[in-house]
Amino acid sequence: MSKSILNKNKKQLAIFWFRRDLRLDDNAGLYHALRSGFEVLPLFIYDTEILDDLEDKNDARLTMIYRYLKKIKDELEDKKISSSLCIKIGKPIAIYKELIEKFDIKEVYTNHDYEPYAKVRDEEIKDFLEKKDIHFKTFKDQVIFEKNEVLKDDQTPYVVYTPYSRKWKAALKPYHLKSYPTEKYFDNFIKLNKSEVFNFPTLKEIGFEENQNPHIPSTDFPKEIIKNYEETRDFPAKEGTSRLSPHLRFGTISIRKLATLAKETNEKYFNELIWREFYMTILYHYPKVVNNAFRSNYDKIPWRNNETEFEKWCQGKTGYPLVDAGMRQLNETGFMHNRVRMVVASFLTKHLLIDWRWGEAYFAKKLLDYELASNNGGWQWAAGSGVDAAPYFRVFNPESQLKKFDKNQKYIRTWIKEYDTKFYPKPIVEHKMARERVLETYKKALTPL
Ligand code: FAD
Repeated sequence: MSKSILNKNKKQLAIFWFRRDLRLDDNAGLYHALRSGFEVLPLFIYDTEILDDLEDKNDARLTMIYRYLKKIKDELEDKKISSSLCIKIGKPIAIYKELIEKFDIKEVYTNHDYEPYAKVRDEEIKDFLEKKDIHFKTFKDQVIFEKNEVLKDDQTPYVVYTPYSRKWKAALKPYHLKSYPTEKYFDNFIKLNKSEVFNFPTLKEIGFEENQNPHIPSTDFPKEIIKNYEETRDFPAKEGTSRLSPHLRFGTISIRKLATLAKETNEKYFNELIWREFYMTILYHYPKVVNNAFRSNYDKIPWRNNETEFEKWCQGKTGYPLVDAGMRQLNETGFMHNRVRMVVASFLTKHLLIDWRWGEAYFAKKLLDYELASNNGGWQWAAGSGVDAAPYFRVFNPESQLKKFDKNQKYIRTWIKEYDTKFYPKPIVEHKMARERVLETYKKALTPL
């Protein structure tokens, strides 16, 4: 470390800790940090508690994070700002111990993260910092409404979407959608000259490889798609949905800017953004859903859990083309169209009677937009066990879904090259039998004795 940065260490600093908000513009916590009166040290931690759980060293999500961190670093190091991004690898608490030794930190700013692991981690860090007289200040950034902001009149959480969304919309005021003009305060980042900028570790240095084809969609808002959303959203062969989910996941776009556009453009699309917040609120209030059915009696279902069938489902070899195309799209690109997510999830839980937690875990490994709240919500919806879920007797017929939503077979032929040849497998289960089996199994398990 050069001499001048050591002098800087004597300055009182605030840290801004990036997590699920990988952008400089319209970032609530960053805005408050930059107005704190202290120079701001921007920080990102590759949290080894999370990295250690990732089996795939080629994980596209790591590549996405890496690229957006590089973008932030380049913006910060540009001479307009003349700062840098401090990147650390390790357990956050250990990193904070190291940083407070090196720098005179007065405050730490960050944005709320509602996932159970993050809540515990942040509590631990808050306790640790506050014992050292360092304030830990956190802000709402990744949603318009959080935690207890949209509750029933009796102050309990909603468990049904429609009244939740009604209350959400009634509560919305223009200031909820207002951007935070961080750019006005960029001068308050810690100033570093070229020789002082922080080291930027490669993916290899953190134990991963760069995914060469990570299918990261654009951050540009697809205005035409959003405008025509109702007409196109259900057809997986069309470019008919916004593909912004990975950007909402990593905060590489601002929810306030997207919700502003949605509100002005298309109610249906706006409603989808509210579904996202509904599921986040459910996870926040009912963390048990991570491992258990929201409706406890659904934990009594005797899943068949046939491993060979599960493997065929994972590989897209069930003999049901819409299911197989969806799984292959997921395996190849890290994305699956929402209509098809519903069909494959229904097929796994209902046709094969495999525990929704198995499917949820597989999606969690593969999806670029993986989000605990929405993924859990989507799976429990399909299994019938969740909030506002599909009734258990609703069993999607994958053949009629195909006829309705991929009439010209464009989607299935894109993903199943051997469709129509002798190499494409026969259905692993017969629809009528599977339907009767699941109805009987669910009925028996769910009927009180
Ligand atoms: P659009 O149709 O353009 O929608 C815009 C945004 O609204 C999305 O980016 C998303 O943030 C939100 N949204 C749309 N539909 C839903 C929904 N049903 N629930 C919650 N938010 C929604 N979404 C995730 O972001 N991460 C997941 O891990 C995830 N897992 C799912 C698992 C299952 C079994 C199911 C049925 C759905 C899951 N979804 C998940 C919801 C939905 O499929 C995706 O958000 C959507 O397909 C993303 O594509 P898009 O950005 O083009 O969506």
